[in-house]
Amino acid sequence: MATTIIDGKEVASRVREGLKQEIAALTQAGHTPGLAVVLVGEDPASQVYVNSKVKACEELGIYSQKWALPAETSQEELVELIHRLNADPRIHGILVQSPPPPHIDEEAVILNIDPRKDVDGFHPVNVAKLVLEDATGFVPCTPLGCMELLKAYNIPTQGKHAVVIGRSMIVGKPMAHLLVSKQANATVTIAHSRTADLPALCRTADIIVAAVGRPEMVKADFVKPGAVVLDVGINRVEDATRPRGYRIVGDVDYAGVSEKCSAITPVPGGVGPMTIAMLMANTVKACRQLTQGA
Ligand code: NDP
Repeated sequence: MATTIIDGKEVASRVREGLKQEIAALTQAGHTPGLAVVLVGEDPASQVYVNSKVKACEELGIYSQKWALPAETSQEELVELIHRLNADPRIHGILVQSPPPPHIDEEAVILNIDPRKDVDGFHPVNVAKLVLEDATGFVPCTPLGCMELLKAYNIPTQGKHAVVIGRSMIVGKPMAHLLVSKQANATVTIAHSRTADLPALCRTADIIVAAVGRPEMVKADFVKPGAVVLDVGINRVEDATRPRGYRIVGDVDYAGVSEKCSAITPVPGGVGPMTIAMLMANTVKACRQLTQGA
């Protein structure tokens, strides 16, 4: 059986197209969705992410504010800005780009974001809503994007065994909650760095989600023939043959695993493009909920 290459770019572009109509309707009703993106410091990768988020807003007709604050910005100044954004009726979504400089306590900052505007889904209220399966909450964009990919490719989850490798609050844990929810009905195992015999565990999986941050760690011998593999990883590895001197690879050994699985997300072009699309979706949802109460 041929392996399905899950095209995240294509699905993300469909998600964005689908949002345009709702954005137009909200705008016509006087409520243009608005996103504030806050960056502290000059981390080059963060600058790229922030700029692509702002660009995505522009393309869809979402109002955006980009706040690029100097690295020495204090925690108090950052929190003060967040309080202003909480009170700004033009802004429905607030995002503080991670990671902030080391003197900033990221968790304390997130606690100051109005949960109704927490489009990253990191505030404890939204974490609780995810666990409670309360649809008014915000789910972190990357795992939400993974679920959209499964839906877009009609990949069944009910009764399947999913192994999520990684237990971060950004990807692994929310991913596991989404898969075990009554919407998806998978049986879920969360693996991490202390899991015993990860390859053997993964071989029992119908669905593997790799969110580890280790280049090409998941090898063909982790994969049961016919399993579905979602690769969340974004890792830079040195490559002298590339003009930039590096290439981007996932957490999955694509060449080996794609021979064995039934469907796989490539890196780049798989899960990555979904993250920003889901951020746009969360911003539109926040606008709808704040202005229409629905
Ligand atoms: P974290 O570093 O926060 O978490 C990594 C997880 O992997 C941890 O739970 C860790 O276990 C586990 N882990 C580490 N080594 C092993 C191992 N040898 N065996 C099993 N588990 C292991 O990373 P993130 O969740 O933030 O990100 C994961 C990957 O996804 C990264 O490559 C990141 O760049 C990418 N990413 C991609 C996004 C996208 O838009 N596509 C968005 C966010 C992240 P432990 O808890 O025990 O330390």
